[in-house]
Amino acid sequence: MTIVNVTTPQQEHEFIIDTVAIIGLGLIGGSLAKSLRENGVARHVIGFDRRPDELKQGLALGVIDESATSLTLAVEHADVVVMAVPVGAVENVLSQINTSFKRGAILTDVGSVKGCFVDAVNNAFATVPDQNRPIVIPGHPIAGSEKSGVSAANASLFVQHKVILTPILSTGAAEFEALGLIRRMWERCGAVVLEMSVDHHDDVLAATSHLPHLIAFSLVDTLAGEGDSREIFKYAAGGFRDFTRIASSDPVMWSDIFISNRDSTLKVLDRFADDLAALRQAIDNEDSKTLLGVFTRAKAARDHFGKILSGQAYTTTMNTENVIFKLKPGGEVNGTIRVAGDKSMSHRSIMLGSLADGVTEVEGFLEGEDSLATLQAFRDMGVVIEGPDEGRVKIYGVGVNGLKQPPGALYLGNSGTAMRLFAGLLAGQAFDTELTGDESLSKRPMERVAAPLREMGAVIETAEQGRPPMKIKGGSPLKGMHYDMPMASAQVKSCVLLAGLYASGETSVTEPAPTRDHTERMLNGFGYPVVREGATASLSGGGSLTATKIDVPADISSAAFFLVAASITPGAKLTIQHVGMNPTRVGVINILRAMGGNIEISNETVVGGEPVADLTVCYSPLKGINIPEDQVPLAIDEFPVLFIAAACAEGKTVLTGAEELRVKESDRIQVMADGLKAVGVETLVTPDGIEIEGQQIQGGTVDSHGDHRIAMAFAVASLRANADITINDCANVATSFPNFVALAGQVGIQISVA
Ligand code: NAP
Repeated sequence: MTIVNVTTPQQEHEFIIDTVAIIGLGLIGGSLAKSLRENGVARHVIGFDRRPDELKQGLALGVIDESATSLTLAVEHADVVVMAVPVGAVENVLSQINTSFKRGAILTDVGSVKGCFVDAVNNAFATVPDQNRPIVIPGHPIAGSEKSGVSAANASLFVQHKVILTPILSTGAAEFEALGLIRRMWERCGAVVLEMSVDHHDDVLAATSHLPHLIAFSLVDTLAGEGDSREIFKYAAGGFRDFTRIASSDPVMWSDIFISNRDSTLKVLDRFADDLAALRQAIDNEDSKTLLGVFTRAKAARDHFGKILSGQAYTTTMNTENVIFKLKPGGEVNGTIRVAGDKSMSHRSIMLGSLADGVTEVEGFLEGEDSLATLQAFRDMGVVIEGPDEGRVKIYGVGVNGLKQPPGALYLGNSGTAMRLFAGLLAGQAFDTELTGDESLSKRPMERVAAPLREMGAVIETAEQGRPPMKIKGGSPLKGMHYDMPMASAQVKSCVLLAGLYASGETSVTEPAPTRDHTERMLNGFGYPVVREGATASLSGGGSLTATKIDVPADISSAAFFLVAASITPGAKLTIQHVGMNPTRVGVINILRAMGGNIEISNETVVGGEPVADLTVCYSPLKGINIPEDQVPLAIDEFPVLFIAAACAEGKTVLTGAEELRVKESDRIQVMADGLKAVGVETLVTPDGIEIEGQQIQGGTVDSHGDHRIAMAFAVASLRANADITINDCANVATSFPNFVALAGQVGIQISVA
């Protein structure tokens, strides 16, 4: 036998198997045989079929090299034997050839159920000594069609389709080598090979393939049995045709599959039958809330199918694609724009809307990946949420104590805000929860919220060094407390206050410096009193929230990129509409003005408790300043782009008291310093800040380290650069500012995406 496991490019066209026997020259067996020949995977392909006509046709169509006249003749010289008969026929066929395998041969298959193949092998070889048994590697190509027989054989059937191998014996070197060979065999036919356990395979396939086939067969049969079936089929449009296509699959094969995968299909069928009965009941009761709940959850799941498949839950590209921004130097900044909705308020509107009594309507919701992850997490906890549809979301609140245990861990994408606020909300629930996030979130410190929550009575586990995932034990009674925050963090403050909703007595938090107060304002907006006295915010547990309407203002953190863009670009004049002007967020305006920035505020109003205004920015030469430390928490997310402003200012800008920046999505001090260096701007990094001397920005390549704000800051830097700037790792810009590139292009920044 020729077995080559390590393949070099030259070997791509070499045979890796000498002789393969295919037993059952139908659609799958024939397709594999043809593919093995056409791709030069095996030197010699022998076919066997009960029907000589099929074999003759197989030879004529070039599917096989040789037809065997008996099962024994097919198998006795083969290095690899592939069983491609229906799963129910395998044991009978194997029993006829259990002593015919050549020593060291591999037995594999293509059957749709793996447990019964393994049982069939065990039964057929029960009396055969170990040394005379073949090495068994069960397999299942997830490819096929409704056609059958060798005439339908298609050599490219498996290209870019998955093949699942469910190895049972991987202890010895020979088994390991055999597994590698079967993997290579399928890969050379164009397939993508996965491995999983036999039981897992059968459960997964019962849910994703077997149940849908059963439903399609059953539905078509039901409708065909109706008296007026001709009428029904006449008017059944594309949807019906698409949905029931699989009902024309081979009935024999499928009845065989259901019997062979009886336990797994019954399990999922029972669950489905229960859910169907609940839907029937909801229709009967005219219970549109239940129907909406099922349909909105299903729609979200279907819309995000690809993302779920890539293990990203409901969020897209985070850290998976290398999105690159390419910028030409110079450009203009002019016009009138409205930037994306505020991220902090989008998160909180979903959280508080879910806990309120009644229906909350939100407009201007940021459809970024983080806020979508928050929205999905509440759906997972049983809240019915319609949308988002162009920024509109409708939340059917379940009341403070109405959340249900989610079916699995809650995935919060890239969002530290979400994880810290969720920790507070979930600490007082009756059920256990687990909070997870993407790679970057998984490195961020959570002990800062876990510690005060534990003081209140919560039972919380984190991974090493206080990192996510966070596991929160349900049913732990919380006691109100006073917390003197060691750091100025709105997330920690919000977390403790939200836990306070579920605590006995009063919960209060004193902050060392002012931080964002959206949580307090929005709680008040939902009719839940939060008292503010000096640096202390307090509330009493046990109250309720009343649904409201929320118009999320444009995010000042997103506006900041354009405030700086216009400030540093000669001739610029830009108006940004309806920007949230919460006093705890306006640090970027204060700092830019202190540097000589020309920003006019107009149309000031208050929307849902939050001040809002239009901002008009004109170019103005900036000068370096010592940034007042009391402004740091008010501009904490805006520093990456403020560093660009500093690089364009005359003289030195000094930032201190900003160590918090080191534990954001990236170490924003170091990553910005590295990026500035890459475009020719030298800086001095200090433990809690940075010193930046204004100087000419050059071209260069910047690594954003997956940090959206770093990526957008350097896009702005291009306006004053003297050569092209390339920014790597920009996929996460979609998390906070989905249409940044379009808006940047609209105002005059010369940006493209590679
Ligand atoms: P097919 O085109 O109908 O071919 C089945 C083959 O098995 C034919 O050669 C048939 O011989 C032979 N056969 C049937 N009953 C037999 C018996 N009792 N004893 C010996 N041979 C018998 O079916 P297929 O679609 O290729 O399916 C073959 C296997 O692939 C099944 O295990 C199925 O679960 C699996 N599979 C199918 C698909 C799909 O979409 N079709 C996808 C993935 C996996 P005759 O020529 O005498 O009928």
